[in-house]
Amino acid sequence: MSGFTLTYDSFDPGREGLRETLTSTGNGYLCSRGTAEWEDADGVHYPGTYVHGVYNRETTILGGLPVFNEDLVNLPNWLVLKLRIEGGEAIRLADVELLEYRHKLDIERAVVTREVRFRDAAGRETALRSRRFVSMADPHRAGIEWTLTPQNWSGRVEVISAIDGRVTNQGVARYLELEGRHLNPVSPRTFGAEVIALKVQTRQSNIYVSQAARTRVFQRGKLLAVKRTLHQMEDYVQQVLAFDVRQGSPTRVEKMLTFSTSRDAATSDTLAKAGTSALGRPDFGEALKHHVAAWQELWRVCDVRVRGDERVQMLLRFHVCHVLQVCSRHTADLDAGVPARGLNGEAYRGHVFWDELYVFPFLSFRIPEVTRELLMYRYRRLDEARAAAREAGFSGAMFPWQSGSEGKEETQRVHLNPLSGRWEPDLSRNQRHVNAAIFYNIWHYFQATRDLAFLRDYGAEMMVEIARFWASIAWFNPDRERYEIHGVMGPDEFHEKYPGQEEGGLRNNAYTNVMVAWLCELAGEVLSRLPASRADALRARLEISEQELKRWQDMSRRMFVPFHGDGIISQFEGYDALEELDWDGYREKYGNIQRLDRILRAEGDDPNRYKVAKQADTVMLFFLFSPATLQRLFERLGYEFRPDTAARNIAYYDQRTSHGSTLSLITHAGVLAVLDPDSSWERFLVALNSDVEDVQGGTTREGIHMGVMAGTLDLMQRAYLGMEIRDEVLVFNPRLPGPIQELSFAMQFRRTPLLVTLSKDWLTLVLHPEGASGPIMVGAGGEIRELCPGDRHMFRLSPAPPAGPRAARG
Ligand code: BGC
Repeated sequence: MSGFTLTYDSFDPGREGLRETLTSTGNGYLCSRGTAEWEDADGVHYPGTYVHGVYNRETTILGGLPVFNEDLVNLPNWLVLKLRIEGGEAIRLADVELLEYRHKLDIERAVVTREVRFRDAAGRETALRSRRFVSMADPHRAGIEWTLTPQNWSGRVEVISAIDGRVTNQGVARYLELEGRHLNPVSPRTFGAEVIALKVQTRQSNIYVSQAARTRVFQRGKLLAVKRTLHQMEDYVQQVLAFDVRQGSPTRVEKMLTFSTSRDAATSDTLAKAGTSALGRPDFGEALKHHVAAWQELWRVCDVRVRGDERVQMLLRFHVCHVLQVCSRHTADLDAGVPARGLNGEAYRGHVFWDELYVFPFLSFRIPEVTRELLMYRYRRLDEARAAAREAGFSGAMFPWQSGSEGKEETQRVHLNPLSGRWEPDLSRNQRHVNAAIFYNIWHYFQATRDLAFLRDYGAEMMVEIARFWASIAWFNPDRERYEIHGVMGPDEFHEKYPGQEEGGLRNNAYTNVMVAWLCELAGEVLSRLPASRADALRARLEISEQELKRWQDMSRRMFVPFHGDGIISQFEGYDALEELDWDGYREKYGNIQRLDRILRAEGDDPNRYKVAKQADTVMLFFLFSPATLQRLFERLGYEFRPDTAARNIAYYDQRTSHGSTLSLITHAGVLAVLDPDSSWERFLVALNSDVEDVQGGTTREGIHMGVMAGTLDLMQRAYLGMEIRDEVLVFNPRLPGPIQELSFAMQFRRTPLLVTLSKDWLTLVLHPEGASGPIMVGAGGEIRELCPGDRHMFRLSPAPPAGPRAARG
């Protein structure tokens, strides 16, 4: 790996699935795995293509019971290009002798390349270079180019160019028992001599998807008249292009693709739309040029540059590239959420969880229009969330833990433990904290952008309805004179219920209760931020009573937070009574114990019995709020918040967390940035490497971890630059991490674009001269200044203070 590319120099069947995920190419509308064009789905290869929002629900009968699942659908495989030499079998990597092999993702241009030189059974040596991109310039277009050069022979070849609609969702081994057929065939079609097209329809959600491919062959820069043979079935269409090739002389094959779905704007018949647009320009070279130009513009806005560690630089850019391939400006029109595993695989079925909490900070300070639309995904599902709250006996809006097309609860009721082979109940839907995260995200989007129109028209309504939900699920315990919340889980998925209990949920998850205290205070205040007439209208429309406002304020002062020991916040009530786990013993026995839940269950034991956490739970508080905010929150609640509260709690839970979700590494790296910079950097590096090295041993082949990729980028700005918005001032409290000598990136704060550069002693801010919104207040090194578009200011940084109880966030 070097610079701006991720490179693999040999073919490794055992890691090909992982590499396909990591070399996926996409544009925020669609994404395709980096599978070689000539391979079909088998145990090694898995060509998957996914478009935001194309979900389908199916039922599986499991042990006589219906199990419902909504999946992001694997769409027809448009990649297919296969080579037959002199009438032989189509070439597959497994059947030839590889003389050279290189598989590359050009991170800067989002182009996936394979350069292969192979010897077939007849001793013919052939060089094949494939380049592929999914256009960032035109979201409905993609292109493949092959350059084929016979090394020691001349003769006739056939290239099979197909669109294969016979695909199913079978990318995740654990889900194979579940129904994976999501597509019904509609029809193949040709458009002129060169274009083949295929239309399919999702079986239940009735979304039409059409793809069209124009395949042409060029020799010495000239279009070659090839013999074409068409074969079409209702769910498959192919053209075979036959032509002669000469030793040492390269032949170029171009396959240009267009995509259209019935969810797209300005679309009537998807087949006609895809077909006619495939007929026209641009060709591969021209389309690639537009694509590269679109990426250049994105890099200007989104690059994160570091000096001092090349690999860190490469991986940060790799993460920028992947985050943008899933969430770009093209996503904004799609009524899409952030699928936790990107559009790169089928883990978690393309569902949307709370992970956007880790993704939005990167987007909001660079392309906030994308965050806005991802938040609109939630707003459009507000009625569904209201219905869910009503059905559960609550008021307001209860957004689901896992969300898909309609915003219904998509969390499965059973999941397969791959260690034991048993289907086990899944109680994770009780993670109602996703509702606090949505509230937090709206508020922080507003903080970063001051988009009052969004708050006025959509954000405030969601915030109020979420506060209402919490006010209705909470109950006042007169003995304690405090509000309590029962029957929910925190982010730590190892604790779904009390040991030995049937019923899911816990009492008084501290993270949830503190978030609720915070949001209850803000919910009333948000109304006062709106123009008075709009606030009155919203109050009238939602029938918000004085009594409700008072209750929220009361809750913000009297939520119950459990403690045990000396100043340790209990993850939930009763946590203290759980047993300690023999961590060393388990590490010795199993090596990797990140997924202790599966290990314990396979042993017939139960993680609920122990003081073990899959991921940051209580520690999330120190990640999401600055120490000053937390201190204020706790004091308002009447609880002590000592100077060492953060350090003691983080250390306590750190020792009891397996980091079975890599999100946890982001959180811990964040909270340790100041407390223990070396340890923070260590966690950061694990998070940075987690997908590229597949540290969880097999999960990345099922999709990237969007929250972790974006989280590493966010750590640069919020943890290491110490960036927070405090009293309307953009404040930096920076500290260069690890070996990094300089950190710089472009960002925007409330529509004012600026360039931030941190070196050892200086923080330099340069405001773009054409800033849209005028002066901003910024602060660093104890100095606060107003800067106007065109200004450049260098803050002299004082030497780093000794480590103290300061956490990462504002
Ligand atoms: C984590 C959740 C996360 C989900 C999707 C789970 O393993 O525990 O916090 O939302 O993955 O990424």
